[in-house]
Amino acid sequence: MGKLDGKVALISGGARGQGAAEAKTFATEGAKVVFGDVRDEEGKQVEADIRATGGEAVYVHLDVTSEADWQRAVQEAVNRYGKLNILVNNAGIIIPRVPIEERTADEWDQVMAVNAKGVFLGTKYAIPAMRQAGGGAIVNISSIAGIGQALHQEPAYAASKAAVRMFTKVTATQHAKDRIRCNSVHPGPIDTAMLHSAMPEPQVLDQRLGRVALGRMGTIAEIVSGVLYLASDEASYVTGSELVIDGGALAM
Ligand code: NAD
Repeated sequence: MGKLDGKVALISGGARGQGAAEAKTFATEGAKVVFGDVRDEEGKQVEADIRATGGEAVYVHLDVTSEADWQRAVQEAVNRYGKLNILVNNAGIIIPRVPIEERTADEWDQVMAVNAKGVFLGTKYAIPAMRQAGGGAIVNISSIAGIGQALHQEPAYAASKAAVRMFTKVTATQHAKDRIRCNSVHPGPIDTAMLHSAMPEPQVLDQRLGRVALGRMGTIAEIVSGVLYLASDEASYVTGSELVIDGGALAM
């Protein structure tokens, strides 16, 4: 028995990194998965990998800043698999850290559009389908940057992830009546392309890991297990909550 048997899930940013691992794990756990990204070639490869192991998944083009793309993605879940039970708002971007005075308004808007507005749009278009299904679970991928270690955070990224944290709680309270749960996950530094692009120099990464109690990056699997828990019925009494998976970074 899988932890997501009978469920239909939609995952954004699923072409690589944590999102791709979530798509694979959800399919292994019995879910039918629609996942989207702007990296179409990589996304189609992930779909082929999942199908090769007997899982049920389909890749769709989904730019999370586009209302039309979200509408199509939700429709794909409902048309192809009959309903929507789970949404993971995973897509995100980061930009190199510069002082606030040097950050341009366009860069700020771009980060907020993907990381914050993208979560809003996904939630907005998933809710009616989830209500129709009798309830659901939304998992929003924020970051420890949305909670603390402020001195070391990129300002636009931190602001966007803090927006996700609070938006999660508003969603949870507004839609408890619809039996829709909503929680946020707050990873510390995780070993993905995003982290290495933000910190290409080994000494900068080492400095960052010096502010993690366990002294190492987290693995993708260590995040996916938390996301799976929140998406599954095992978390039936968990909503409006925040799951920090950061190797003790915020504790320092
Ligand atoms: P990643 O860069 O490997 O994956 C992010 C995915 O989002 C990519 O596939 C990318 O193409 C996709 N994406 C970007 N813009 C998009 C858009 N407009 N529409 C749809 N998809 C888009 O990085 P990751 O580490 O797997 O990141 C997953 C999530 O975890 C992100 O929200 C990120 O902010 C968050 N996070 C990552 C870390 C870390 O250290 N890696 C730490 C905290 C939080």
